[in-house]
Amino acid sequence: MNIISAISSILYPTECPVCGAVLVKGEETFCTECLMNFPWSDPDFHYHDTILKLKNSNIKNLYSLFNYAKGADSKNLLYAIKYHNRPKLAYKMGVMLGKHLEKHLHGDIIIPIPLHPKRERKRGYNQSVEIARGVSKITAIPFSTKAIHKIKNTSTLTSHNREERFATINGAFELGEASLIKGKEVIIVDDVITTGATVMAAISAMEQAGAKGFTLICVAKTSL
Ligand SMILES: [Zn+2]
Repeated sequence: MNIISAISSILYPTECPVCGAVLVKGEETFCTECLMNFPWSDPDFHYHDTILKLKNSNIKNLYSLFNYAKGADSKNLLYAIKYHNRPKLAYKMGVMLGKHLEKHLHGDIIIPIPLHPKRERKRGYNQSVEIARGVSKITAIPFSTKAIHKIKNTSTLTSHNREERFATINGAFELGEASLIKGKEVIIVDDVITTGATVMAAISAMEQAGAKGFTLICVAKTSL
């Protein structure tokens, strides 16, 4: 540790994004206790039930870094990367996701779920892009933000039931540069996947471009 980072760690101690404890020497991103007790998912687990319900045979796999149970402390991490201006934390989650899936993840291009431009300007970043950047760094699979765009500024889906989620998000994305995904195995990245309504809307925009197949990855998989 150099003198500047030593001073800055005293002035601005890094806190665990899950429990809020100040990180001590040797701890990175999470405190040891949260790291040990976190609900990491098994990288071999494919969430077949969710995939089956989506009724789209082009979806090959769904992987997640961890399983999120409603109300669990891990929500603090998800809020931090989405609402608390923590793009670097989102990137770190992407790096962890990339390492978690390194042996499993195959594809030609990584496509993060876009935010509506108005929402992105307000937030200053898109957490899914930061996650994609981290995954790309580890796996060396390129990512692009140009294949699809969000054209409908939808409200947050968290209070919606399954049917409402699909209805709200339907038609929310439009195809951008089709050549990026034509004939490609596409890896779609979102921060949280619940019913899969958002990724299905993104897929329907991308299928027009003739993408070969889709793998879905996320930081947190949750169920309604
Ligand atoms: Zn902690």
